Amino acid sequence: MGNADGGRGRDRPPSVDALVRSMADVDLPHPLLVEAARSALAVGDPSSARERALRRAAGLLRPVINATGVLLHTNLGRAPLAYHQEASAWNLELDLETGARGSRWTNPASLLAAATGAQDALVVNNGAGAVLLVLTVLAAGRPVAVSRGELVEIGGGFRIPEVLSLSGARLLEVGTTNRTRLDDYERAVAAESDVAAILKVHPSNYRMVGFTEAVAVDHLRGLGLPLVADVGSGLLDADTPWLGRPPPAWLAGEPAVRQTLEAGATVATFSGDKLLGGPQAGLIVGSRDVVAACAAHPLSRALRPGGMVLRALQETLLAYLRRDAGAIPFWRMATLGLEDLRRRASDLVDAAGASDALGIVECRSAAGGGAVPGLDIPSVGVALEGDRRAALRRLDPPVVARVEGGRTILDLRSVDPADDGVLADLLAELAG
Ligand SMILES: *Cc1c(COP(=O)(O)O)cnc(C)c1O
Repeated sequence: MGNADGGRGRDRPPSVDALVRSMADVDLPHPLLVEAARSALAVGDPSSARERALRRAAGLLRPVINATGVLLHTNLGRAPLAYHQEASAWNLELDLETGARGSRWTNPASLLAAATGAQDALVVNNGAGAVLLVLTVLAAGRPVAVSRGELVEIGGGFRIPEVLSLSGARLLEVGTTNRTRLDDYERAVAAESDVAAILKVHPSNYRMVGFTEAVAVDHLRGLGLPLVADVGSGLLDADTPWLGRPPPAWLAGEPAVRQTLEAGATVATFSGDKLLGGPQAGLIVGSRDVVAACAAHPLSRALRPGGMVLRALQETLLAYLRRDAGAIPFWRMATLGLEDLRRRASDLVDAAGASDALGIVECRSAAGGGAVPGLDIPSVGVALEGDRRAALRRLDPPVVARVEGGRTILDLRSVDPADDGVLADLLAELAG
């Protein structure tokens, strides 16, 4: 190697090795530095190797500051999680009393039951998996009645008709796009001999207004069929006991798990990382028999979550049962008072020492994650003139913001207050 370098003429490109050595300070494993060096040499631009390596390092998964004001931002990992796992063995599937093999689902199931009144519960990898498993178990090869107003795409490729067909069930369309009534369900179900279930889907990030009509869960129980409610976002209880006060206005109309079961749903399905504020997971809660049939199906093995997810979910559910919303980052952000936000904004602008470049604005945050569409949460942000999003994303840690009316808004509701100091330094850097 020394030979190759030593013999290099003036305009001969450097060796891969020499390039890699020149990037020793870039925090990437050797094979990735080699890759950057090779690709720079391949395009005849060895001087670009460092930039390529730095871009590669910057693109790895890492913490970012979410200043978008969307609290559950799918591109930013939805609900931020306040849980770190120790490197240790644990009783994931061991009954410590008997020493016999236990079930990984026992703990989350009993906590979900306590929090929602459900008989039993099962946890899978995500909300889509929960719907798929329930439909497979209840309805493979048979019709499932769904209102035409609920044949929605939730985003990220989750489309109700497609999930239904993947489960082997057959879609039985009911009513019209904008209006579906009880007698539409009655007629559709009577016209088929073997309807397996009714599926109610919360349209999540989609909202119909005007001349519309839908049938609530409690009116469907009279049809005598298993009733599956995909509530989506995982608001556990419409009375929000964990907040220690009545539900905030922006939650209006969001279906809640406890009330959906009380209204007569056989099972409800929802995500772990939306309004629940936990890890990515899919939850199936409700009838003991249906949950047991789901657990016994081979698909539940294919969709089962790992211990890390179950432990994080357990900690989240314990916080609900302790009525400690402050321990759940989503609820902490969502319920911050405007006075607190105004004070943080003014402290931040002072600390950044760039008050002519920074303004304080009243703005609106959104829950995100498809929950409570169209309803927003009053908030406070820091504004910069012009579109500064690209420059903000290049900071370390990157800051993700939004643009409104020609200004870049950093909405403080979605920023962890512990990051305010870092953010002030970054804004000073950007202004300077
Ligand atoms: C979000 C959502 C899903 C999909 O859940 P994932 O956890 O993203 O897989 C399914 N149904 C509804 C109603 C939803 O809101």
